[in-house]
Amino acid sequence: MTDNRTPLVAGNWKMNGDRSLVEAFTYSLNEQAFEGLDVVVCPPNGYLSMFNSEQFSLGAQDVSHLSNGAHTGDMSTDMVKELGANYVIVGHSERREDHNETNLLVAKKAAKAKQAGLTPIICVGESLSVREAGDVNAFVGEQVAALFAEMSADTLDGVVIAYEPIWAIGTGKTASPEQAQEVHAFIRNTLAEHDAALAQRTRILYGGSVKPDNAKALFGQPDIDGGLIGGASLKTDDFMAICQAA
Ligand code: PGA
Repeated sequence: MTDNRTPLVAGNWKMNGDRSLVEAFTYSLNEQAFEGLDVVVCPPNGYLSMFNSEQFSLGAQDVSHLSNGAHTGDMSTDMVKELGANYVIVGHSERREDHNETNLLVAKKAAKAKQAGLTPIICVGESLSVREAGDVNAFVGEQVAALFAEMSADTLDGVVIAYEPIWAIGTGKTASPEQAQEVHAFIRNTLAEHDAALAQRTRILYGGSVKPDNAKALFGQPDIDGGLIGGASLKTDDFMAICQAA
């Protein structure tokens, strides 16, 4: 982390949680004043409006790239905003995998979210086979390049990128701080090829088995500006400990 960028910790509940977890988080997080840290909780959409978030922000886990209309089952940017979200995760590897989301679609979602005044948290990251083949930079570089095909550097200003190696998600296998830093620096350099100021301002989060005991070492890396937390975002104590590490 550097002083130039406000760290951010976002919890991705995925398809988990219930009303009592919403209540537990609302209570615990509102008890804290997070100074110099942005905290975001991304529950399933149906729970967004159940939160009373005073000390933290809310995010959706996905959003449509289309406007309101005949799109059964989808949620628009207007809708998630009305439910209280200021952020939205796009391109999570589980959506890329479960719903065949392509780099192009992810870029369209990010553009739509940004246009609507939401902050997209754009996920990128490689599988184990890509890593073992030595193709991490080529793979992640393509995911980042796709954003510039849909958005100008000006429009990308303010987005958040989350580097989440797929082999580290939900597996307990965290990337080492050095491994993560290497890819974060690569992502920042890729942004800098388009716009140096954008690269310096953009927050890049790490995600993949972040826990209270490894958060500090990861967040201590110069290009890691916080985390996108899955499993550990479902326990108030763990999530608070990770926020405190940022
Ligand atoms: P994990 O998930 O922390 O459970 O590995 C991270 C994510 O998928 O965002």
